Amino acid sequence: MKSIAIIGAGFSGTLTAIHLIRNLVEPIEIIIINEQETFNKGIAYNPYSKQHLLNVAASKMSAFSDQPDHFFQWVCNQSEYTNKDKNSLENSFLPRQLYGQYLVDIWSETIQSEQAKKANIIVINSSVIDLDVDDHNASLTLSNQEKIHVDICIMANGNQVPRNPTIRNTNFFKSTNYFQNPWTINSVTNMGSSLPILIIGNGLTMVDTVLGLLEHNFENEIFSISPNGFNLLPSPGYVVQYTKFTEEISDQTTLLQIVQLFNKHRKILKRNGSTEESLITSLRPYSQKIWQQMSFQEKKLFMNRLRHIWGVARHRIPLQVYDKIQKLLIDRKLHIYAGKIVDISEDNQKISVEFYNKKQQKNEKIIVSRVINCTGPETDFIQSEDHFLKKCMFKGIVSQDKLKLGINADTSTFQVQDSKGNLHTNLFTIGPNLRGMLWETTAVNELRQQAETVAKNILSCHLVTKSFS
Ligand SMILES: Cc1cc2nc3c(=O)[nH]c(=O)nc-3n(C[C@H](O)[C@H](O)[C@H](O)COP(=O)(O)OP(=O)(O)OC[C@H]3O[C@@H](n4cnc5c(N)ncnc54)[C@H](O)[C@@H]3O)c2cc1C
Repeated sequence: MKSIAIIGAGFSGTLTAIHLIRNLVEPIEIIIINEQETFNKGIAYNPYSKQHLLNVAASKMSAFSDQPDHFFQWVCNQSEYTNKDKNSLENSFLPRQLYGQYLVDIWSETIQSEQAKKANIIVINSSVIDLDVDDHNASLTLSNQEKIHVDICIMANGNQVPRNPTIRNTNFFKSTNYFQNPWTINSVTNMGSSLPILIIGNGLTMVDTVLGLLEHNFENEIFSISPNGFNLLPSPGYVVQYTKFTEEISDQTTLLQIVQLFNKHRKILKRNGSTEESLITSLRPYSQKIWQQMSFQEKKLFMNRLRHIWGVARHRIPLQVYDKIQKLLIDRKLHIYAGKIVDISEDNQKISVEFYNKKQQKNEKIIVSRVINCTGPETDFIQSEDHFLKKCMFKGIVSQDKLKLGINADTSTFQVQDSKGNLHTNLFTIGPNLRGMLWETTAVNELRQQAETVAKNILSCHLVTKSFS
């Protein structure tokens, strides 16, 4: 019996396993490895608060591309939602905890199905700390040093904790008042002090953290420092369908021309009382293709000059959350600064943060009781102390893309490329590892397709399958 290991059981790993089970004909062994707490949910769908909402409307969050209203129908069948107005439910931003429950449900349903009896499904609650691959085998080392030998391995290890800021006093990172991982509840609990709190970063996780702090009765000021200090934008309930912008983009259009076209169409929309949200939405189905046709110089330019603007325009927050953030800003409970952390030191539970204030063009100091890192998932695994991908890179099993956003792989088969540029026949990856190859490769919208494709590819290359159209 062939065996397949999946590293990580967030959305990507869970859906890959589901598609393997749904489509297999021959018996196979599927070993799926993830720590217990986030099994099926990953980081995104295991939040500590009900207030942490999806950033995509319910109607667009189906786990299956061929059943676009699968999630919505599931929600309608949940007792809490059966009596809710269907139209408003479709467009609402529901709790991410609910989405985690949806993933747990579809996994349970799959493993209890008749089809699952053909597979030997093994769930291991652990972490993979090392990986070796040759032409015929993959050998995974778990955190308890146990080794697992399989024929095929799929890396669906997803998002990494944020990178520590570059400061002189790196000793601070050992402090119990520093939270490198903003997605765990302890980052917002047990706040003994009456001093303010600093959140590094100004994106969606900053918003979740602010909500978490308020939920845990934090009443003092909250500071947020990020390179640009952009204001977050609300998600409009309705977006005008607008295709004229993307109709003008061809395979030859350069990044500069895309920016010029964007500005041209933004003005047209503005004259007609609409916003650029329509442009961002219309670009979405083409963004991977555009990224792939950009030169390395253009990609670098995008990363240096446009990435943050794109992030703000693309990752909007639900209106009710936007309202709360605006109120905090008006009440001067939340302060958003554009700037850069220079240094952080701690003395007797008081943390002194020196930062460059971009607006004032000078260094300033604030005193806080804790620092929460909300700068977003780290993409350069070389920065982490002991990531298994780092070990794989030193062994030549994987290669980093030039922008250090992820690893190199073939984006149609999802085979991983080794350091010599050869594609592995038995090592695959999907999800955030492919950021350098695809840029947009983190939302359910893209990942559901990747999971289905990689599962079908593996089954059709390595094993007998149902016939696929
Ligand atoms: C806070 C947050 C909110 C988001 N909200 C949305 C949203 O509303 N809508 C949307 O479309 N997208 C959202 N996203 C994007 C999100 O990245 C994807 O939707 C999706 O959850 C990614 O799934 P994944 O399985 O690839 O990665 P992850 O969710 O990161 O899951 C990876 C899993 O692999 C495990 N793992 C990692 N390394 C190892 C190892 N060495 N051994 C074993 N297990 C390992 C991790 O513990 C984790 O459980 C959000 C992302 C974040 C971070």
